[in-house]
This record gives sequence, C-alpha cells and structure tokens, in this order.
Amino acid sequence: MSDQSATSVIVSGETANVFDAVIVGAGFAGLYMLHRLRGLGLSTRVYEAGSGVGGTWFWNRYPGARCDVESLQYSYSFSESLEQEWQWTERYAAQPEIEKYLNHVADRFELRGSIQFDTRVVAATFDEAAKRWTIQTDRGESVTASFCVMATGCLSAAKVPAYQGIDAFRGKMYHTGQWPAEGVDFSGRKVGVIGTGSSAIQCIPHLARQASHLFVFQRTPNFSVPAHNGPLSPEVARDWQANRVKYRHRDRNSQFGFRIELNPKSALGVAPEERQREYEARWRDGGFAMLGAFADIVLNQKANETAAEFVRSKIRATVSDPAVARKLTPIEYPFAAKRLCVDTDYYPTFNRDNVTLIDVRARPIREITSTGVRTVEAEYALDSIVFATGFDAITGALLNIDIGGRAGVPLKQHWSEGPRTYLGIMIAGFPNLFTITGPGSPSVFSNMVLSIEQHVEWISDCIGYLRNRQLATIEASVEAENAWGAHVNEVANYTLFPRARSWYVGANIPGKPHVFMPYIGGVGVYRQKCDVIAAHGYEGFALRP
Ligand code: NAP
Repeated sequence: MSDQSATSVIVSGETANVFDAVIVGAGFAGLYMLHRLRGLGLSTRVYEAGSGVGGTWFWNRYPGARCDVESLQYSYSFSESLEQEWQWTERYAAQPEIEKYLNHVADRFELRGSIQFDTRVVAATFDEAAKRWTIQTDRGESVTASFCVMATGCLSAAKVPAYQGIDAFRGKMYHTGQWPAEGVDFSGRKVGVIGTGSSAIQCIPHLARQASHLFVFQRTPNFSVPAHNGPLSPEVARDWQANRVKYRHRDRNSQFGFRIELNPKSALGVAPEERQREYEARWRDGGFAMLGAFADIVLNQKANETAAEFVRSKIRATVSDPAVARKLTPIEYPFAAKRLCVDTDYYPTFNRDNVTLIDVRARPIREITSTGVRTVEAEYALDSIVFATGFDAITGALLNIDIGGRAGVPLKQHWSEGPRTYLGIMIAGFPNLFTITGPGSPSVFSNMVLSIEQHVEWISDCIGYLRNRQLATIEASVEAENAWGAHVNEVANYTLFPRARSWYVGANIPGKPHVFMPYIGGVGVYRQKCDVIAAHGYEGFALRP
C-alpha cells in the first residue's frame, strides 16, 4: 500500500474514495459491524491501525493475557454455524486463541477485502451541506461516507505516565497494551512492572517465572479473585450447544451479560456462618461469581465490607510475609469499585524469593534513570520495564481522533466537561456518527462481546430504517442527551462504584474530567430501553431527509 494518492485507497483491487459507511477498528465490534452493513448492501471500508484483526486481542499479547469472562459467553452469538464449528479449549481463553477466533471470523465471513490494515484514522469531519463524513487517515488518504461508525474500543488508548527521565532509560520498555508480536524473553533479566491492575495481575506470575528478579511497583492494591481456569470440559461444551439459545437469551437479559447466579439475600441479613459459606463457595467457583454472592454487595457499604474482608483474609492466608500481605491488601475503596481482577497465582507469586513488592504510594517514583527506576527512597537497577499502567479508557480512542461535528464543533469541545451521549451510541451535533460501546452504555460493565452485538444490531437496524424511508441523517437531540447523562449518573450514584478513584471515572488520567462513564443499569434493562426507543420511531433523535 505504498503507492497511494491523497484521495484514493486500493483494497482488493478496488479503488474508491466514496463509501456508504466507514468503520474505524477491526476488533469484535468492527468485524461484526462490517458483516451487518455488507448484509444491508452498503459499500463499507474498515480502517484498522494494527496489521491484523483483533483490536484489544491484537495488541494485548503480554504473557498471561486472557479473557475473564468465560469463552462460551465471550464469543459471537449471531451465527449458529459459527458457534457450532468453533471449539474453545479452555474455560477462559488466552489471547492467542481469541485472536485466532477473530481471524477465523474474518475469513469465514470474507471480511478482509474491506479492511485496510496499518492505517490509523486521524480525523473525521461532518460536512453539513453534503450530509457526509470526510475521514482522513495517517497515510494522507481522504474518503467520504454517509455513516461513520467508531468501533475503536474502550481500552485501546494505552497510557504511559510522563515520568521524568523516561527517554534516558537504556534498557527495554514495554506497555502491556502494545506488546511486541514476536514476544519477549525475560530470562535472566531484572524486570520492573509498574501497575497492579488486571493486566499486571495476569502477567506478573509469568514474568516472575522468567525474570531473574521481578520488582512490582504498586500504587494501589487491587482486589483479585481466582479464575480457576482449566480445559473446557466436554460436558460443559455439550451442555452449551444443547442449550445455546436459552443461555444466550438469559445473558442478553441479565445484569452483566454473562452468567452470575445472583443471591437475592442481603449480606447483612444472614448469620456470619452462612455468609462465610456463600463467599467460600463463590471463591471456589472462581471469576466474577463473588459479585453475585449477596444482593447488596455493590449497594451498601457495610455489606460490601463483609466481601472486602473475606478477600483480605484470603490474601493474609496466602502471602507468607505479613508486611507484604498488608501492602497487597486494599483498604481505601469498596470491594469491586475498581474493576475486580481475576487471576491465576497472583498472590502466591509474592512468596517467591525473586519477587519484591514496592509501595510507590508510600514512596513515589521520582524518575526513570538510564539504568532503572528511582523512588524517593531507593534506585532499582533494571534491564526492562513493563508499564501495566492502563488506558485512557472509554473516551481516549475517540478523542485521539480529531472529530468535528456540525459547524465544525470539535468532539473535544463538546466533551470538555466529560463525555455526553445519548444511549452511548450517538452524540448531539454529530449526525450519522455511531459509537459502539460508547460512554453511557454498559460496555466495560458487561460482557463486551454481547454488548457489542447489541449495539451493532441496533445501529444496522437504524441505518436500514433510514434507507428504507429515504432519510439521510439521524442525530441525537440535546434534550435526550442531557436526560440520558442524568440517568447514567443517577444509576451510578445509587451504587458504590463511583467511590473509587478508578478509570471508570477517569481518575487515572491527570486532568480528565471525573464522570462515571459506563451505564450500570444492567444490559437487559438497557437493551429494552434501546429497543423501545427504536420501536417508537427513534425517540429522542431527529431524522431528516
Ligand atoms: P488499570 O486497571 O488502569 O491499571 C493500571 C495500573 O497502573 C494501576 O495499578 C495504577 O495504579 C497503575 N498506575 C497508573 N499510573 C501510574 C503511575 N503514574 N505510577 C504508578 N502506578 C500507576 O489498567 P490495566 O491493568 O491495563 O486494566 C485496564 C482494564 O482492562 C481492566 O480494568 C479490565 O477492564 C481490562 N482488562 C481485562 C482483562 C481481561 O479481561 N482479562 C485483562 C486486562 C485488562 P492506580 O490504581 O493507583 O491508578
């Protein structure tokens, strides 16, 4: 793709710069969106910054990267034959298997011909006279489309903190969300990991087994529960196939979009022995089962404290050095108010002689030197640094693109006090621009694949509706956007989730407005709301010829 003019692109021998739709991103969202829009007969181009499909599962190749929703549920449901022909090997699939699955999907539905890889979209501008989007890429191309769909992902804008001296480091540096495709061998190396979120918690046990010494720089300890991963049993797989339709229906109408048995009792309304038994059973189940142990865990601080104390007792029982156990114990925010982590061997890793935990809340990192990390107390000599420092979540990937709506108003300006959307799907003043799993939708608070499918289907039905009626544009009204934002907030404030300094509220990015971004009313409730709005002729939207 080296010989391109500024206004044309060539994919599969086809030259065009005018499309019905442009999709940004070829992960779970972009691939299914392409499949649906092609089904409607739309000429569609996908731009993807990576050199392959997969989105988050293309970039996050760090050792131990694994999904923590069970694979049978964290997979597309739209095609029965796809479900029947694909066999997952583990309860929770690892990154290579999910990437392979998405490559299979791209081939199976012949999607590649419409995807231009190694191309980053840098700008998208709405032309009011033409009622079309102009999309520009980092290759200097410019194309136009009636519809622009952002399938850019919620956790795709990787963030490395602006440490003083970082450019002077002579060793190797990696971010978990931009891991080299060829992998990294840490054998015999002194490695530092900065961060202890989900990515770090997954990769630390692997790094510890390879490195000569691993230094873990922790600012805030997280609650982590065991995955109890293992091979997917043939009985479970058979049961899924036999009851697939029923299970998918259950998940679509649930709180989180995947199976969690919700105990209707209050944690405070049962005897301590029953509470302990319930938590132990959930811990044995593994994964997010803990979240459903009692109905009020995420609603009532006292109830939450019983779950928090249970996990703290597990940390104390696992980590042999009481001082290290104390450092690993979260105390300053409610259980699960920061995204609950799911691990394999995380806490036992701190019993290894070659692992040192450094509390950088108590003794902050002052700078990165040419040979390592210097805190206010000591310097740690390192061969490699792994930044497991997270993402500019939910809004980062959208705001990294220069998006201009009506009258050229930049999205950055519209969102200067935090993201505003209607349903997390559309933005007032940005006609025909759709955001799959955008801020204000269940997104990261749910089984992402299920929420992606719901958005893709809603968006493609909406585009079909417009075309059948010869309507050119759809646009969220300011009133609908304001009302939805107030509702998202109200629901969040009913829970304990906003009480942590988490990426859910943008607290991990200096200067980012603090707004609780996901909608946590439940995927079933949310789906119903979206369906009713569509059934009423897209209430809250203006549809114009
Ligand atoms: P993260 O949860 O945001 O964790 C980032 C870590 O880096 C935190 O411990 C944070 O500390 C630390 N950090 C950030 N800036 C720092 C600084 N300047 N100095 C010291 N420490 C700093 O990011 P993540 O682990 O990549 O996970 C992000 C999300 O991706 C997860 O919550 C999850 O939703 C998703 N994810 C999913 C999976 C899965 O499904 N298996 C796996 C990985 C990630 P503070 O807490 O103090 O800010």
